[in-house]
This record gives sequence, structure tokens and C-alpha cells, in this order.
Amino acid sequence: MIKWHGRKARSDRGFTVVELMVTMLILGILVGIVVMTMSISRRKAKESACRANLRTLIDGLILYKSTHDGAYPALLEHLAPDYIKGSFDWTCPSGSINYRLNYDPITGDVWCTESGHQI
Ligand SMILES: [Zn+2]
Repeated sequence: MIKWHGRKARSDRGFTVVELMVTMLILGILVGIVVMTMSISRRKAKESACRANLRTLIDGLILYKSTHDGAYPALLEHLAPDYIKGSFDWTCPSGSINYRLNYDPITGDVWCTESGHQI
């Protein structure tokens, strides 16, 4: 055992409480940054998915209008399955907002009320 001025050598002492607290603080900050980044990424992915859904609906509405003398369907459900293929998700990926409730059959507008989801 090496002694310096009556104290144990640093290699024999282990970590002090202050060193452990600083390490925990740095780890906490890093975890916070990672969680915040992942949250932002998830939100942006949902925004992109919502905009893609809206574009699909708008494309289906344009096709429907072109084959029905310029008239839009009374309900968005009338687009399936002829103008929208597959199993279409009628709700915004961010929550329970239903596109069918945000459709104007007069103008053909379809929208999402979540912020940042507009085309
Ligand atoms: Zn949305």
C-alpha cells in the first residue's frame, strides 16, 4: 500500500460521493438528450405519415372527381376500394383524429387539425 502524507493512494480509495454524483449527473443529462431527440424524431415521423395519408386522400379525391363529372364523394369512404388501394388508415398517426370528420365534400378539402400536419 502506498501512502502519501498519511492518506491512502488514490488507486486504493475508489470513487468519492462527489465523483459518483457528477457521473450520475452527466449520465442523466445524456439520457435526457437522447429521450428528447427520440421524442422529436417520433413526432416528425408521425407528421410525415399524416401528410402522406392526406396526399393519398387528395389523390383519391382528384381521381374520383375526374370520373364523376367534377363532383366530390359525399363521404371519404366512397374512395375505397376503387380510388384508395389496400387497408387505408383513416386516422392521424398522432392520435384519434379522424380524417372523415375533417372533410368538406363541397370543396374536396381534407385536413388534419394537429399542428404541423398540414400540406
Ligand atoms: Zn395528423
